[in-house]
Amino acid sequence: MARRQVGLRWGWHSYNAEVMPGAARKIVKRVAAVLDVVAPPPPGITILIYHRVGRRSAIEVDLPAGLFADQMAWLREHCDLVTLDEVLDRLPGPAPTDRSGEPRRPVVAVTFDDGTADFVSDALPVLTAHRVPVTLYVATDFIERGRAFPDDGIPLSWAALADAVSTGLVTVGSHTHTHALLDRADPEAVCYELDRSCDLIATRLGVHAEHFAYPKAVPGSSLADREVRRRFRSAALAGTRPNAYGATDPYRLSRAPVQFADDMAWFERKAAGGMRAEDVVRRVVNRWRYRGKSS
Ligand SMILES: [Zn+2]
Repeated sequence: MARRQVGLRWGWHSYNAEVMPGAARKIVKRVAAVLDVVAPPPPGITILIYHRVGRRSAIEVDLPAGLFADQMAWLREHCDLVTLDEVLDRLPGPAPTDRSGEPRRPVVAVTFDDGTADFVSDALPVLTAHRVPVTLYVATDFIERGRAFPDDGIPLSWAALADAVSTGLVTVGSHTHTHALLDRADPEAVCYELDRSCDLIATRLGVHAEHFAYPKAVPGSSLADREVRRRFRSAALAGTRPNAYGATDPYRLSRAPVQFADDMAWFERKAAGGMRAEDVVRRVVNRWRYRGKSS
């Protein structure tokens, strides 16, 4: 049975911005902040994507532990922190307002991708201290076989993940089995990637994976989209913009990647649904990076 492993052909994180010089990145952030003032984001729920905490690698999505702790403390103080299930319950309704009709404080959900060991060693103590609910999307083959992720990513063990789930704060979702890109996998491979991942999460953790995140935020083929909708309650892509109330497809959730280059001021804007122009630049850069790739 041919099972194509298509996950690792392009660099791992489409959110990595090291192809863009630091000065250019700062200019993009400033322009994005100005555009937020000119055209404020619509009311919606922000979903943040994290990858790693502890700064053990030089990748843009590996955050220093202190910065991550500051971000979680800020979120706890200034935002309503919700689970992904609560996001889905609230999104079809109107934007919440207070008694005088003013918008309430930002509603934010925190998610992590992949399933590296630092999630338990570095991120979870902070999440627990601030009571931050989190969804962790795992690529199960790496955990099942103890296979290293790119950029020196040590995989979690099932035992550590089970302990994390027992805190009551961690929801485990699927990120395919081998971190496969579902826009180019054949039908058999798509079903294998989804089913194998869900089976392992159920067998090893005793929980049902209800949420899915497309690896590298690459949307699936129409067949993959159909298979994802059959199996899950939601599916996540990337997108630095809020998920608008009353106008969001739960199988196309936008998630804002949090990067090393985001100091607290930029982070606070992202959490409040801003910095949408940064997302436009990310998409253009990725189109250029992945040009000519067919598989
Ligand atoms: Zn991933």
